[in-house]
Amino acid sequence: MQCDMCGKTVESLKKVQIEGVLMNVCFDCSRFGSSVKSIPKSFNRSTYVKRAYVNPDDNIVVKSNAGVLIKQKRESLGIKQEDLAKMLSEKASTIHKIESSGAHIDLTLARKIQRILKINLLSEDKKSDDVVTSSNSDGLTLGDIIKQKMRK
Ligand SMILES: [Zn+2]
Repeated sequence: MQCDMCGKTVESLKKVQIEGVLMNVCFDCSRFGSSVKSIPKSFNRSTYVKRAYVNPDDNIVVKSNAGVLIKQKRESLGIKQEDLAKMLSEKASTIHKIESSGAHIDLTLARKIQRILKINLLSEDKKSDDVVTSSNSDGLTLGDIIKQKMRK
């Protein structure tokens, strides 16, 4: 039997993997590769863990007019921004930002506000914001243009 690596004739060969190639080598050369027997179970188990639990928050979004809703409700209840901030253990500036500029509210905060003000700030994401309506005002196709030219 001959070693695939050095060509030496030996009594027994070892099957090893060297740079991804299976080779039958002598004992001396086998240390350059990894023994085939030790290879198999090296796959990453975590890649096979299925995501059985689907996060229900995935399609829940904070309404884009949440800031306005908060402000209206807060004012109707006669609560100051600072007071609401305290109830939420947030900074008054955060509340101010949300109400005035419609700053992004994270779900956790939105839920807290919902609970305190008893308003609904969340909606299911219908992905409607992703739909871009064509604002092409002249709306002429090449065919229309040709027709117009023909008419002249
Ligand atoms: Zn060898």
